[in-house]
Amino acid sequence: MTDIKKDVVLITGAGGQLGSELANGLIEIYGKEHVISTDLRIPEAETEHLFLELDVMDKKRLGDLIRTYRVTQVYHLAAILSAKGESNPLLSWQINMEGLLNILEAAREFQLKVYWPSSIATFGANTPSNPTPQFTITEPGTVYGISKHAGELWCQYYHEKFGVDVRSLRYPGLIGYKSLPGGGTTDYAVDIFHKAIKGGDFTCFLKENTVLPMMYMPDAVRATLELMHADANKITVRTSYNIQAMSFSPKEIYGKIKKHYPEFEMDYAPDFRQKIAETWPQKLEDTLAQKDWGWKPEFDLPAMVDDMLLNLKKRVNYKSKVLEEI
Ligand code: NAD
Repeated sequence: MTDIKKDVVLITGAGGQLGSELANGLIEIYGKEHVISTDLRIPEAETEHLFLELDVMDKKRLGDLIRTYRVTQVYHLAAILSAKGESNPLLSWQINMEGLLNILEAAREFQLKVYWPSSIATFGANTPSNPTPQFTITEPGTVYGISKHAGELWCQYYHEKFGVDVRSLRYPGLIGYKSLPGGGTTDYAVDIFHKAIKGGDFTCFLKENTVLPMMYMPDAVRATLELMHADANKITVRTSYNIQAMSFSPKEIYGKIKKHYPEFEMDYAPDFRQKIAETWPQKLEDTLAQKDWGWKPEFDLPAMVDDMLLNLKKRVNYKSKVLEEI
């Protein structure tokens, strides 16, 4: 067991949708003096804990920060996501792949424990989609998916070859109210709430019956922390674990939101993201995550919708800048 008080946790890509929420969970465990957030840019709003600039391609600065702050764990979240990645495949590959390799090399050198998220994008059109098994065909069709698939294998390699304690989850689409998504194929499931609350109509970029697996942010943060705090001898998957919470289509989430906002209208204008979504799982088979470290989701679709609307409404009252930007 690691001594929690002595651990210093560094988060990369911490300004993003996941990092901004995961940082709070880590601070609750380790204390704000022991958590360092990093990203390409420091957020405008002041943070209660240390937030530094770090480009994950900059190996020297990464090493300097690890040495200076005696970092023991890295949560490596910096990445270019699925939809955004398609506009510049080679740059996305570089950031997603070299970024991960820089972290894994640092982990080997400084004996760091590492968390790195994979994604349902690791699968592909030939993967059984309902449910998608833990071990199955993986022929991803996006540069993001290719980088996640290769990344999973690199994580396993660094664990087996060099003993690096690196752990990973294949997140479904993540839905949270504290931040906006960063260019993924499941972004509509966050955007739809903002539009409903603002009183506007919504155009969905996926077809109405496109079912994808999704997860509410509190479940995603809890899954991450539970995986990272499980005994190492319980971790039998060193590529990345499937985890399932809920699966729904745009039509289904619209129906749930419309119960709260009867005037809310949605239409459909599928774009290139529809093609990506069609190669992704509808539901993940996650018995190994359940068995190895006790994974169990708390939020299903109705519970998530209720909680999202409750919390977003509170934020809308003080005219959040985030909402203005949509
Ligand atoms: P995001 O796009 O919101 O945030 C990513 C962050 O990485 C951004 O703040 C960006 O500035 C930063 N970044 C980009 N290039 C960088 C670089 N060179 N150096 C340092 N920082 C850099 O993404 P997110 O939703 O927070 O995703 C975090 C992780 O979770 C990613 O690995 C992503 O693949 C994974 N994931 C997310 C989802 C989801 O639905 N959000 C689903 C599956 C997996």
